[in-house]
Amino acid sequence: MIFKRLYLLLFICASGQSLANVHVHGAGSLFIAQDNNVWLFHYELPAADVFGFEHQPENDKQRDIVLSRKHLLNDAKHLIQVPAGCSIQAHDVNFPFDDEGHNDHSAGHDSHHNSSNEHGEAHEHGEAHEHSEAHEEKKAPEHNDVEIAVTLKCKPDISNITLTLFDHIPSINSLNVVWATNVGQGSQTATIKTATVRI
Ligand SMILES: [Zn+2]
Repeated sequence: MIFKRLYLLLFICASGQSLANVHVHGAGSLFIAQDNNVWLFHYELPAADVFGFEHQPENDKQRDIVLSRKHLLNDAKHLIQVPAGCSIQAHDVNFPFDDEGHNDHSAGHDSHHNSSNEHGEAHEHGEAHEHSEAHEEKKAPEHNDVEIAVTLKCKPDISNITLTLFDHIPSINSLNVVWATNVGQGSQTATIKTATVRI
Protein backbone atom coordinates (compact mmCIF):
# COMPACT_ATOMS: atom_id res chain seq x y z
CA MET A 1 0.00 0.00 0.00
CA ILE A 2 2.64 2.47 1.05
CA PHE A 3 4.74 1.54 -1.99
CA LYS A 4 1.86 2.40 -4.29
CA ARG A 5 1.56 5.78 -2.63
CA LEU A 6 5.27 6.40 -3.04
CA TYR A 7 5.28 5.42 -6.69
CA LEU A 8 2.17 7.47 -7.36
CA LEU A 9 3.87 10.44 -5.73
CA LEU A 10 6.84 10.01 -8.02
CA PHE A 11 4.79 9.80 -11.16
CA ILE A 12 2.83 12.91 -10.24
CA CYS A 13 5.87 14.94 -9.25
CA ALA A 14 8.19 13.78 -11.95
CA SER A 15 5.72 13.67 -14.81
CA GLY A 16 7.18 16.86 -16.22
CA GLN A 17 10.59 15.27 -16.36
CA SER A 18 11.92 12.43 -18.40
CA LEU A 19 10.54 9.64 -16.28
CA ALA A 20 9.72 7.75 -19.44
CA ASN A 21 12.77 5.61 -19.24
CA VAL A 22 15.01 5.74 -22.25
CA HIS A 23 17.22 2.71 -22.39
CA VAL A 24 20.77 3.97 -22.84
CA HIS A 25 23.71 1.78 -21.95
CA GLY A 26 25.92 3.38 -19.32
CA ALA A 27 23.05 5.42 -17.95
CA GLY A 28 20.67 4.31 -15.22
CA SER A 29 18.00 6.06 -13.25
CA LEU A 30 17.15 6.40 -9.59
CA PHE A 31 13.79 7.54 -8.27
CA ILE A 32 13.63 8.66 -4.64
CA ALA A 33 10.32 9.20 -2.88
CA GLN A 34 9.58 10.15 0.70
CA ASP A 35 6.39 9.42 2.57
CA ASN A 36 7.05 10.90 6.02
CA ASN A 37 9.67 8.61 7.58
CA VAL A 38 9.60 6.02 4.78
CA TRP A 39 11.93 6.47 1.82
CA LEU A 40 11.93 4.55 -1.42
CA PHE A 41 14.98 4.25 -3.64
CA HIS A 42 14.16 2.68 -6.99
CA TYR A 43 16.99 1.96 -9.39
CA GLU A 44 16.58 1.06 -13.04
CA LEU A 45 19.77 -0.13 -14.70
CA PRO A 46 20.42 -1.46 -18.19
CA ALA A 47 21.08 -5.18 -17.96
CA ALA A 48 24.01 -4.65 -20.32
CA ASP A 49 25.78 -2.66 -17.60
CA VAL A 50 24.92 -5.03 -14.78
CA PHE A 51 25.84 -8.29 -16.54
CA GLY A 52 27.62 -7.39 -19.73
CA PHE A 53 24.76 -8.97 -21.70
CA GLU A 54 21.00 -8.56 -21.88
CA HIS A 55 19.74 -12.03 -22.67
CA GLN A 56 19.08 -15.17 -20.68
CA PRO A 57 22.42 -16.55 -19.48
CA GLU A 58 23.47 -19.17 -21.97
CA ASN A 59 26.40 -20.86 -20.26
CA ASP A 60 27.86 -21.45 -16.82
CA LYS A 61 30.05 -18.37 -17.01
CA GLN A 62 27.08 -16.12 -17.68
CA ARG A 63 25.00 -17.87 -15.01
CA ASP A 64 27.83 -17.21 -12.53
CA ILE A 65 27.84 -13.53 -13.49
CA VAL A 66 24.08 -13.29 -12.92
CA LEU A 67 24.37 -14.97 -9.52
CA SER A 68 27.25 -12.78 -8.40
CA ARG A 69 25.42 -9.63 -9.50
CA LYS A 70 22.36 -10.77 -7.59
CA HIS A 71 24.45 -11.13 -4.45
CA LEU A 72 26.00 -7.73 -5.04
CA LEU A 73 22.72 -5.91 -5.62
CA ASN A 74 20.99 -7.66 -2.73
CA ASP A 75 23.24 -5.68 -0.40
CA ALA A 76 21.98 -2.12 0.02
CA LYS A 77 25.45 -0.78 0.77
CA HIS A 78 26.40 -1.46 -2.85
CA LEU A 79 23.63 0.90 -3.94
CA ILE A 80 23.51 3.71 -1.39
CA GLN A 81 25.21 4.72 1.79
CA VAL A 82 22.43 3.99 4.25
CA PRO A 83 22.26 7.17 6.36
CA ALA A 84 22.62 7.03 10.13
CA GLY A 85 19.24 6.67 11.79
CA CYS A 86 17.80 4.67 8.89
CA SER A 87 16.95 0.99 8.79
CA ILE A 88 16.20 -1.13 5.74
CA GLN A 89 12.54 -2.10 5.58
CA ALA A 90 12.49 -3.87 2.22
CA HIS A 91 14.89 -4.72 -0.56
CA ASP A 92 13.74 -6.17 -3.87
CA VAL A 93 15.89 -7.02 -6.86
CA ASN A 94 14.07 -7.76 -10.08
CA PHE A 95 16.11 -9.34 -12.85
CA PRO A 96 14.77 -9.56 -16.39
CA PHE A 97 15.60 -13.26 -16.51
CA ASP A 98 16.24 -16.21 -14.23
CA ASP A 99 19.64 -16.89 -12.82
CA GLU A 100 19.03 -20.53 -12.12
CA GLY A 101 17.24 -23.55 -13.41
CA HIS A 102 18.58 -23.26 -16.91
CA ASN A 103 20.98 -26.13 -16.83
CA ASP A 104 18.43 -28.18 -18.65
CA HIS A 105 18.00 -25.37 -21.09
CA SER A 106 21.71 -25.42 -21.78
CA ALA A 107 21.57 -29.09 -22.71
CA GLY A 108 18.47 -28.45 -24.78
CA HIS A 109 20.22 -25.57 -26.43
CA ASP A 110 23.00 -27.69 -27.82
CA SER A 111 20.62 -30.22 -29.20
CA HIS A 112 18.59 -27.37 -30.64
CA HIS A 113 21.65 -26.15 -32.47
CA ASN A 114 22.33 -29.58 -33.79
CA SER A 115 18.82 -29.95 -35.00
CA SER A 116 18.87 -26.45 -36.45
CA ASN A 117 21.68 -27.54 -38.72
CA GLU A 118 19.47 -30.28 -39.91
CA HIS A 119 16.76 -27.75 -40.48
CA GLY A 120 19.21 -25.65 -42.41
CA GLU A 121 19.68 -28.52 -44.78
CA ALA A 122 15.96 -29.03 -44.99
CA HIS A 123 15.74 -25.36 -45.80
CA GLU A 124 17.48 -25.75 -49.10
CA HIS A 125 14.64 -27.94 -50.04
CA GLY A 126 12.24 -25.14 -49.34
CA GLU A 127 10.89 -26.43 -46.07
CA ALA A 128 10.74 -25.41 -42.43
CA HIS A 129 10.03 -21.73 -42.87
CA GLU A 130 8.66 -21.51 -39.37
CA HIS A 131 12.05 -22.41 -38.01
CA SER A 132 13.64 -19.63 -39.96
CA GLU A 133 11.31 -17.08 -38.39
CA ALA A 134 11.97 -18.43 -34.93
CA HIS A 135 15.66 -17.92 -35.50
CA GLU A 136 15.30 -14.34 -36.61
CA GLU A 137 13.28 -13.62 -33.50
CA LYS A 138 15.98 -15.07 -31.35
CA LYS A 139 18.69 -12.97 -32.94
CA ALA A 140 16.78 -9.69 -32.59
CA PRO A 141 18.63 -7.32 -30.25
CA GLU A 142 17.22 -7.43 -26.72
CA HIS A 143 17.20 -4.67 -24.18
CA ASN A 144 16.38 -5.33 -20.57
CA ASP A 145 16.53 -3.45 -17.31
CA VAL A 146 17.32 -4.53 -13.78
CA GLU A 147 15.11 -2.95 -11.14
CA ILE A 148 16.04 -2.62 -7.50
CA ALA A 149 13.86 -1.09 -4.81
CA VAL A 150 15.19 -0.33 -1.35
CA THR A 151 12.86 1.02 1.30
CA LEU A 152 14.30 2.73 4.35
CA LYS A 153 12.68 3.92 7.53
CA CYS A 154 14.51 6.97 8.85
CA LYS A 155 14.20 8.84 12.12
CA PRO A 156 15.68 12.12 10.92
CA ASP A 157 14.88 13.45 7.45
CA ILE A 158 17.52 12.74 4.84
CA SER A 159 18.98 15.84 3.21
CA ASN A 160 21.55 14.09 1.05
CA ILE A 161 22.31 10.59 -0.12
CA THR A 162 25.55 9.10 -1.39
CA LEU A 163 25.23 6.64 -4.26
CA THR A 164 27.71 3.80 -4.01
CA LEU A 165 26.55 1.98 -7.14
CA PHE A 166 29.22 3.59 -9.31
CA ASP A 167 31.92 1.76 -7.35
CA HIS A 168 30.31 -1.62 -7.95
CA ILE A 169 28.85 -1.38 -11.46
CA PRO A 170 31.60 0.67 -13.12
CA SER A 171 30.04 0.69 -16.57
CA ILE A 172 27.25 2.92 -15.22
CA ASN A 173 28.57 6.39 -16.02
CA SER A 174 25.58 8.40 -14.90
CA LEU A 175 22.33 8.14 -13.01
CA ASN A 176 19.35 10.33 -13.66
CA VAL A 177 18.16 10.97 -10.11
CA VAL A 178 14.61 12.22 -9.64
CA TRP A 179 13.15 12.80 -6.20
CA ALA A 180 9.97 13.84 -4.47
CA THR A 181 10.22 14.54 -0.75
CA ASN A 182 8.07 16.24 1.86
CA VAL A 183 9.92 19.48 1.20
CA GLY A 184 10.11 19.45 -2.56
CA GLN A 185 11.14 17.75 -5.72
CA GLY A 186 14.01 17.90 -8.13
CA SER A 187 16.38 16.03 -10.34
CA GLN A 188 20.08 15.78 -10.93
CA THR A 189 22.47 13.76 -13.01
CA ALA A 190 24.84 11.93 -10.69
CA THR A 191 28.21 10.51 -11.66
CA ILE A 192 31.01 8.88 -9.70
CA LYS A 193 32.40 12.39 -9.13
CA THR A 194 29.05 13.78 -8.04
CA ALA A 195 27.81 10.72 -6.20
CA THR A 196 26.31 12.63 -3.28
CA VAL A 197 22.95 14.09 -4.16
CA ARG A 198 21.28 16.82 -2.11
CA ILE A 199 17.60 16.07 -1.95
ZN1 LIG B 1 20.25 -2.55 -23.79
